[in-house]
Amino acid sequence: MSHCESLFPRRRTRTVRVASVLIGSDHPVSVQSMITAPAENVEAAVAQIVRLADAGAQLVRLAVPTPAAAKALRAVCDRSPVPLVADIHFNARLALAAMEAGAAKIRINPGNIPVADDLYRVIDEAGRRGTAIRIGVNSGSVMPRDRDDARQHAPQEIARRMVDAARSYLDLFERRSFRDIVLSLKGSDVPTTVWAYRHMAEACDYPLHLGITAAGPREEAVLKSAAGLGALLAEGLGDTLRISITGDPVNEVHVGRRLLEVMGLAPLAGVEIISCPTCGRCEVDLTSLAEKLYEATRSIRKPLRVAVMGCVVNGPGEAREADLGVAAGRGFGVFFRHGQTTGEKIPQDQLFERTFDEIRRLTAS
Ligand code: SF4
Repeated sequence: MSHCESLFPRRRTRTVRVASVLIGSDHPVSVQSMITAPAENVEAAVAQIVRLADAGAQLVRLAVPTPAAAKALRAVCDRSPVPLVADIHFNARLALAAMEAGAAKIRINPGNIPVADDLYRVIDEAGRRGTAIRIGVNSGSVMPRDRDDARQHAPQEIARRMVDAARSYLDLFERRSFRDIVLSLKGSDVPTTVWAYRHMAEACDYPLHLGITAAGPREEAVLKSAAGLGALLAEGLGDTLRISITGDPVNEVHVGRRLLEVMGLAPLAGVEIISCPTCGRCEVDLTSLAEKLYEATRSIRKPLRVAVMGCVVNGPGEAREADLGVAAGRGFGVFFRHGQTTGEKIPQDQLFERTFDEIRRLTAS
């Protein structure tokens, strides 16, 4: 199935332009991430942006918390291979400076530019420049203070508060006839997030930026994101996304990209390792082979399906289906290329190198 024949038809939205990236129903769901380097360290910031872009990020966000960061932003924008999103809190002047410096989009939270006239200045300047704005509501900002009343903390109640906060803020933007808006309503858990986006989608036609906020370290974050964002994408909701993972943001891009691929919303853009869970029939160290191949091939940006299977019972079937297959026997493996076995028995201690060489050959441009 190609991504064009997705089983998950997208919700119709208006289209929002973020420089070269179009966000909305007719356009591919874009993957974004956020750098951890400060903008003032231009070399480090640009290097990280380039790594994220190489991994497949179409948009990259960076914090602009000070006038010095806003000043450095121009040099970062000039060298960035992808449009940049400036993350702004509390300070309208920083938002104006970030737009002046070349940010293609700014992200602000409801209420943290509290003076209406300041907010209107930001909105009007964004309208004049064609800069998009993400309104980002997080569950933490609407949590009730009273910790004793469990009903107040139910996911539906928090989600309702998030949607209400977004709607009141939206009114201010619409009063200025500004509609280049992307909305995010990130909860820190799956049920709140799913409820919030569902309700928001019923209330407007703005594109949605999906995410779970502060999702945790890698396995936890991947699980929450796959469950929450997967559920929403399967309902046709979501036009751009960020997977939040503590650590190197390149992981966020890999996971975001793969989530879209496994859901059929994007074509395979790298190496997919298909490996069996192993069982008592397996007679090679398949776990280490699969994990080494996974790590070694993460940066390859050519589509290739590689099956690594532990025995001759089920192995050859899967190995034949893939572009490249390895079916293991007792201390050796047999290759399959596009369904045909080569018949050669490769000793276990050469399996990784030989398989990786073959992958490199098949993905060479
Ligand atoms: S492919 Fe073979 S080793 Fe792997 S899980 Fe299936 S039966 Fe077990």
